[in-house]
Amino acid sequence: MRYISTRGQAPVRDFAGVLLAGLAEDGGLYVPEAWPQLGPADWRSLRGLPYPALAARLLQSFVGTAIAPEVVAAICHDAYAGFGHPAVVPLIQLDTNLFVQELFHGPTLAFKDMAMSVRGRLFDHVLETRGERVTIVGATSGDTGSAAIEAFAGRARADIVILHPHNRTSAVQRRQMTTVQAANVANIAIEGTFDDCQDLVKALFADAAFRAEMRLSAVNSINWARIAAQIPYYAAAALALGGPEREVAFSVPTGNFGNVLAAWSARRMGLPVARLVVGSNRNDILARFLDGNDMSMRPVEPSLSPSMDIQVSSNFERLLFELLDRDAAATASIMAGFRQTGRMAVPDAAWHRVRTLMHGFRLDDPGTEAEIARLHAATGYIADPHSAVGIAAARALPAGHGVPTVAVATAHPAKFPDAIERAIGQRPALPARLADLFQREERFEILPNALAPVQAAVRALARRNAARAGG
Ligand SMILES: *Cc1c(COP(=O)(O)O)cnc(C)c1O
Repeated sequence: MRYISTRGQAPVRDFAGVLLAGLAEDGGLYVPEAWPQLGPADWRSLRGLPYPALAARLLQSFVGTAIAPEVVAAICHDAYAGFGHPAVVPLIQLDTNLFVQELFHGPTLAFKDMAMSVRGRLFDHVLETRGERVTIVGATSGDTGSAAIEAFAGRARADIVILHPHNRTSAVQRRQMTTVQAANVANIAIEGTFDDCQDLVKALFADAAFRAEMRLSAVNSINWARIAAQIPYYAAAALALGGPEREVAFSVPTGNFGNVLAAWSARRMGLPVARLVVGSNRNDILARFLDGNDMSMRPVEPSLSPSMDIQVSSNFERLLFELLDRDAAATASIMAGFRQTGRMAVPDAAWHRVRTLMHGFRLDDPGTEAEIARLHAATGYIADPHSAVGIAAARALPAGHGVPTVAVATAHPAKFPDAIERAIGQRPALPARLADLFQREERFEILPNALAPVQAAVRALARRNAARAGG
């Protein structure tokens, strides 16, 4: 399986290559040169498999010959072994033809774990076969950092350093990062804002000598492996609800467009998907695009669903490339125009095509709290604010479409106790395996907002671990 860039000017790579590379050198995103295709008999053969086995089978079609099937199978098994539900991605019925699929049973209680847990292990394996080590650095305002730390903690070939703004994350978010005791993990609290943390990470990468010395690697959300690892749960839901003989629809609370792109990819591989609903909060660039071909940036406003507070959905470029019949030059020119003008000029024909499949939906904060309350009163189910947007979006699908709709739940409600308490008058409990989170010992360094001390801390971690690993 070979991968090409959406902008056409980067080297063609195999799966291992795109796993390590992340963003393509031309600024584009890697996509498969040809989509794997599964027929009805292939889908049927996946029905009833344990989730890790299903995930391994589908992931292998993207890995190709880059990694042996038994390695991919072992990685998927290991990645999901620590999840808090035996079905890994359980389906729950909320109404006639309305289901929720919970993607938040991983170590950090958010759906980023679905891909990150696999990606960390794949990364380690590829580095091992190449005899390389890397130092992963990233800045976080909360969620991405903890998923990355969980994924890389204890891996042999990577050290990970995460910068967070001191006293500016929630206590749950901070503790999910700082109570991980693995020797290859370092948390740095910067006396500054999230933007300061991001600027420091950029400065680390911009120092070419330091970057080479430490073999820096980024935590980013645009890696193809992440999309590939998110496709299997769409297949699991569809097969459980009668696929491939019966179509299903999915509703996805969306930020960077990675999750909904995975649903689109499952359909592209032959899974019968009738509709995709793209849920947004008040940051509704995608809803405006789907409603009226208006993809124009506006300032980001904070909401109850912070992981959907975006102004640019970076993974949209992968869909754009497909909508333009894989014309890389046209994709590059539209993306350049978007950067310059803040408005993406998607040709009308492409927009009409996407509208036959995707619906946009937006819900503001009062609407989100009302949906959490309504759902709880009607069913007893407690949805977090992100998931509530997706469930409301699923309910808003035109009536009588006649197929089961699955709203994916992307975070555990206990991550957002204040919003839940306002909506239903009670605070959701953390799952048992995290119940002692507030008793666990924390480990982090507090550093001033300056490059030199951060570089020294990164170097110290890498030295320590290289010495332990014997060189
Ligand atoms: C990241 C995230 C999203 C958005 O997913 P994208 O793939 O960026 O569209 C939604 N909900 C939660 C809880 C998230 O962490």
